[in-house]
Amino acid sequence: MPRPIQALIHADALAHNLARARQAAPDARVWAVVKANAYGHGIERAFGGLRGADGFALLDLAEAERLRALDWRGPILLLEGCFEPRDLELCSRLDLWHVVHCPEQIDWLAAHKTLRPHRVFLKMNSGMNRLGFRPDAFRGAWARLDALPQVDEISLMTHFSDADGPRGIAHQVAVFEAATRDLPGERSLANSAATLRHAAEAGVAADWVRAGIMSYGSAPDFPAHDAGHWCLQPAMSLRARVLATQTLAPGDTVGYGSSFTAEATMRIGIVACGYADGYPRHCPTGTPVLVDGMRSATVGRVSMDMLAVDLTARPDAGPGSEVTLWGRASAGAVLPIDEVAQAAGTIAYELMCALAPRVPVALA
Ligand code: PLP
Repeated sequence: MPRPIQALIHADALAHNLARARQAAPDARVWAVVKANAYGHGIERAFGGLRGADGFALLDLAEAERLRALDWRGPILLLEGCFEPRDLELCSRLDLWHVVHCPEQIDWLAAHKTLRPHRVFLKMNSGMNRLGFRPDAFRGAWARLDALPQVDEISLMTHFSDADGPRGIAHQVAVFEAATRDLPGERSLANSAATLRHAAEAGVAADWVRAGIMSYGSAPDFPAHDAGHWCLQPAMSLRARVLATQTLAPGDTVGYGSSFTAEATMRIGIVACGYADGYPRHCPTGTPVLVDGMRSATVGRVSMDMLAVDLTARPDAGPGSEVTLWGRASAGAVLPIDEVAQAAGTIAYELMCALAPRVPVALA
């Protein structure tokens, strides 16, 4: 018998969330962002639900190759462009579009005289201060690219730092607009948070939105809004089973460090999921779980291979009962991954990406 833990990837939820991106930005085309192995879901598995996207955006050439191997012939965008000059060759062979964010990347293009003409996305640093040309250098970069026979189309893009929060995006949009006003080419500005919260604002949802976290069913601005508010469905469920139960007397403690002490008689279930599966060790007592589809909570410290849940109010539950750590229970109830991430002091992105290779994954 395999260890009773499994992650499920829900193709129907991925397709639903993609449709939500289209609904939120009806005049734009949608990049499904599938970097980091589709945010931990697996490129091949995620492709099943996201194949209706207009294009796929990711970081590395190996992931782009995997998409082409699935017979995806549409656009693929390398979000950070090439990491070294020789990447351009494979990029061209795979017929990829790539971001250009620094002068060195233009130098590499210019030096590669035999490269087939292709499309690039010129990236502006409009305030995030990660990648991109500053507004005063943008036009010069554009002119250099425009002069290269290796480049047949220049699209313009930027990335928001605060689309999910109160600072918002107005300042970055204004900077981007001012610096690109009379430049031709398609635009791409919005990530998930901007798509859901700001698509109605002028220029934000033109011409391509980049739907990352929303595609996987997490609310980009949790806890201000939850996935239900944005009508998103979880694309990943992590489920395990109860291995054993313990009955605690008042004063008994649970797990390493004895961080939890029972105040009254209680019953706990020991679940086949620990931090070596990707469940965050930082989740404190009280982190929500679903036991056979009904809410309960963790008790004590998370171990490498196990964690404990409170079954005091669940005399029906015992060895073999299903515990949903996040996502959809077999019974249909949903535990948003955002709630678990919040309990661990992190974000859903990190939990999805940290799902451990030892966890078997199946398509639901
Ligand atoms: N665009 C770029 C350039 C990114 O780096 C990312 C993710 O970090 C995204 C889009 C997608 O962001 P989100 O997952 O918040 O939608």
